This record gives sequence, C-alpha cells and structure tokens, in this order.
Amino acid sequence: MSDRRTFLKTVLFGNTAASAPLPTFTRDYHKELGIKPFINAIGPYSSLGGEEMWPEVIEAMDYAVQNKADMEDLHDAVGRRIAELVGSEYAMVSAGATSAIILATAGCMSGLDEDILLTLPNAENVKDEVILQKSHQYLYDRALRVPGTKLVFVETEDDLKNAIGSKTAMMFYVRKMEGQISASKWIDVGKEYNIPTLCDAATTVPPIQYLLDTVKMGFDLCCFSGGKGLRGPYSAGLLLGRKDLILAAKANGSPNHEAVGRAMKVAPEEYLGMMVAVETALKHDEGADMVHYYKLVNYMSKAINQLDGVSAIVKTDDKQGMEPFVNVNWDPNKYKISKDDLKLVLRNGNPCIELRAMFLSFGELHLTAHMLKKGEEITVANRVKEILLENKAGI
Ligand SMILES: *Cc1c(COP(=O)(O)O)cnc(C)c1O
Repeated sequence: MSDRRTFLKTVLFGNTAASAPLPTFTRDYHKELGIKPFINAIGPYSSLGGEEMWPEVIEAMDYAVQNKADMEDLHDAVGRRIAELVGSEYAMVSAGATSAIILATAGCMSGLDEDILLTLPNAENVKDEVILQKSHQYLYDRALRVPGTKLVFVETEDDLKNAIGSKTAMMFYVRKMEGQISASKWIDVGKEYNIPTLCDAATTVPPIQYLLDTVKMGFDLCCFSGGKGLRGPYSAGLLLGRKDLILAAKANGSPNHEAVGRAMKVAPEEYLGMMVAVETALKHDEGADMVHYYKLVNYMSKAINQLDGVSAIVKTDDKQGMEPFVNVNWDPNKYKISKDDLKLVLRNGNPCIELRAMFLSFGELHLTAHMLKKGEEITVANRVKEILLENKAGI
C-alpha cells in the first residue's frame, strides 16, 4: 500500500517533486475513451473536474476503501472532528455544497418531525418559505426549492422584516454576492425573529481563513464545496453550524432510506477524505502558493503585453479569493477577433486551452494560474499571442 501511496503522490505532484520519476499508468483511460486533454487556465471549476485532491486525502480514501465502518459512527465522528477543527458547534460531510443546501433547507422545514421528514417535498402544514435577497438569486437556488419551498425575494431590510412570517423556514444568504442587506444585518434579523440563517460560501476557499471567518460570523449554518479549493473529494461538501439544525439536515439524507435527500449519499472514502482535506488545508502554506501563482501570471502578462495594442494586466479581486489573474484586452481596430471567439479558438485548438470568459468573468478574458502545470504558462501565453497575431488587421 505504501508503494501505491507514493505512486499516487507522484501522479498528482509529479511536477513539483523533481526527484521522483514521472509515473507510467498501465492504461491511458482518457485516450481509450477518446476524451481530449486540456490546459486549465480557468481554475478549479466543477465542470472541469474541480481541484486535485491533496495526497493526504487520497491516503485517507484508500484507508476507507479497505476499512469499513458503521456509516452513522463515521458520519458523527468525522462531523465532530471537523467541527473542532473549524470552530463550529457541529459539522457534517454532505454530497457537495448543493446537497448541503438541500438537506439544510429540508432540516429547517422538518426539524426531527417524522411526519414531515417522510412527506417532503409535499408535506402539509409546514413552514415552506425561504427568504433571500433578489440580488442573491443565482445558479444554485434550485437547491432551495427541492424540498418543496417557495422562494421569497426581498431588497431592503424593511422588505425582509415584512416578509418574515409563520411560514418562514429559513433565510438564505450567498457570501460575496452584492446586496442592500449586509451579512451581519441578515444574521441579526435572523436572530431577532428566531429564523435560521444559511450562508452559501461554497467557493470562498482558499484562503482557508474565509471558512473560519464565515463560521465565526454567526450564521446558523454555512456550507462549502469539498472538491474546489478545499481539495477534498470532488462530490463532497461541508455543512457547518448549529447542532440541532445539522441533526435535522442529517435526518433528511442517507442512510434514512425514506428521506427526500436519500439519493445524496456520501461514501466512506468521502467522509475521511473531506476530514483530511480540512486538516491539510489548515496546515498548508497558502502564501507559498500565492508566490507561485504570481510568478506564472506575471510571466503570461509580460509575454502577451509585448504585442502592440494589447494590454495584459495582472489583477486580483475578492470574488476570486484574492488570487491573481491576467486580464487581457486589445484594440479591436488592430486585432479582428472578439473575446468570445478567442476563447473558442483556444478551446478548439491543439492543445485545447480553457480560460475564464463570458459570465464567469463578467465578459472579460482572464488567465489564471491555479491549475496550470509546469511550463503550461508558456504554452498559454504563446497561443494567445499566436491567435491574436493571426487576426491582426490588415493581414
Ligand atoms: C460551486 C458552487 C456551488 C455548488 O457546489 P457543489 O459542491 O458542486 O455542489 C454552490 N454555490 C456556489 C456559490 C458555488 O460556487
């Protein structure tokens, strides 16, 4: 097994462990299946497989594959350990952040009431309204409706107070999204009216400090993706916060066979993998990662800036976890290609390169360093320059 561990570590970190020889797999599965490889200049997005897991996570998952445990024991013990690590009252591993939202919402509706638990999403005489700011309506709000809720949108604090009533199950907030009502005000109103608050902070890590800060802010519940910046198993996530609410969320999921969330099963490997992801992230030197990312984006920016009429500026913003990226612009009179088309040419080229564009970057073109492997920053910069030059006006 230790050979296998070394092997996996080398697979994942072959580029950084200079002394270790690159492994050879016995099969090239993607090639067999006709799946094309790509260079990831977007970042650890779910649609592209998320982040690479920490080697420590793979070891924990290996352990769980070979050592079975009672699932309730595992669920609770891992939850207690994670809660201790992050300073929340309680915690549970979920099947991703979306699943944490579904189960938490169901839990706020049902508590431990069997009649409701067994009849969601069609329960009668149940609190079934979730309040959120209109500006927080987003890609994943479908998850809030899965257990049978109706969404109530508000804009101002007055709207919020007027919207709260006997049917209110929960108040939902998305971290880092704009809105007239601040997070602390949202939490205060929740406490004043005794309505549970849930904060989606799925992609705010790294830095891991954001997770610790969100827990401290005072939301009753908050949730995170496991397979993005936390570098845990792709389909795992975390629900953190009040014990009574998390026990109610748990009752709405597997192994409760009749629960609305039974399909959102968490594997033993994912329980241990998620726990070790949190442990590892807390110990990791994020500063060193940042230095590395800056080196790569500075290289790409400098290389692309050499073109006349092109600006490639290194930027950072809070929405992207303060990680640096290169923002590329050009004079449309000098290069006859749109940003969207450049993205498509890169995607359809050889090698295929994915970068951040369209809604992910509000119409801008961003090159990120987070997922680049050794030397790929050179390929990315060269391809961007090449395509721009091919489209130079007057050629
Ligand atoms: C990615 C993301 C989710 C979904 O997370 P999963 O772990 O893939 O279910 C939810 N909310 C936000 C803000 C996200 O960025």
